[in-house]
Amino acid sequence: MPKRGKIIGKKVEEIEAALSNLGLPPQYASKLAVWIYRKRIQHYAGINDIPRHIVNALQNEFGDIFEGNSFERYPGTDGSVKYLFSNAQGQHYESIYMDNGKRKTLCVSTQAGCRMGCKFCMTGSISYNGNLDAGSIVGQLLAIPETKSVNRLVIMGMGEPFDNWAEVSRALEILTSAWGVAFGKSNITLSTLGILEGLERFLLNPRCNLAISLHSPFPDERAMLMPSEVKNPISRVVDILLKHRIPKPLRLSFEYVALGGINLSEQHAKAISDMLKGLKYHINIIPWNEHPAADFKCPATDELENFTRWLNQHGVMWTIRQSKGNEVGAACGQMAGKHTPK
Ligand code: SF4
Repeated sequence: MPKRGKIIGKKVEEIEAALSNLGLPPQYASKLAVWIYRKRIQHYAGINDIPRHIVNALQNEFGDIFEGNSFERYPGTDGSVKYLFSNAQGQHYESIYMDNGKRKTLCVSTQAGCRMGCKFCMTGSISYNGNLDAGSIVGQLLAIPETKSVNRLVIMGMGEPFDNWAEVSRALEILTSAWGVAFGKSNITLSTLGILEGLERFLLNPRCNLAISLHSPFPDERAMLMPSEVKNPISRVVDILLKHRIPKPLRLSFEYVALGGINLSEQHAKAISDMLKGLKYHINIIPWNEHPAADFKCPATDELENFTRWLNQHGVMWTIRQSKGNEVGAACGQMAGKHTPK
């Protein structure tokens, strides 16, 4: 049994310290980090430029590379693959791989469940089983067979990243550092509903693009959809974004779940434009995906067309996110930590 948890999730200086503690040369830490994070080997047996006794000592100390982690794989016919992970702490969480030609995206989770209780979200309706550690967050990328083809990472799966900031920020450091995965910062997007304290901390040293869950510009309606609005009003979120600008080439966007008959009026379009004045952003519209935990309606085609026309009239840039993973229960808002085939 490993003595000190798994190796994935450790920073290079922590691997150095571990080697020193074992009486071994710390300079092998960077080589090891490259094998694990950059070359993404699945087993220590693949390492061929570090003396075997050093590799064996680390394996004895930390266990296998994905110690205690396992996953089940559910491919859909639209190029998406849903992954159901379990870790040594008994947590269950999901990732979804989406193949859109040149864009190959992995959506990862940061918590097993979520405490935020958004009314349109399946994850918000299941029981919460704690924060994922950085190893379990980064491991979602490193463990899957498609790992080397992934060129976009979205932190939009189960959980609110700013509710687990210590582990999410550690994961982002591992993902973006030259000694780690070396993923481009502007190819990673973190989505949050805007917990104020976390947002301010993130903006002190942004390591990726930022997407804020908006869903309504009206506080009462937003609070009905997202209880977190009460403690984290969108008006304060906007104030913080105006004060601490996200530096180029990183981008700011707002997520907007399109709920039929609820948040797609001309008043909504105008209020969005008024509220976000002064920011450089675009709106990412996500047509509602049906699931059993909520009874909202999918937007009608003409409803969406009208809404986007009004956004145009009010000078708001927008895109509509094509839904992937619906068939395997892994589209936006459907993640429940289990396989729910349609
Ligand atoms: S939408 Fe995000 S923050 Fe809200 S309940 Fe779902 S996972 Fe949590």
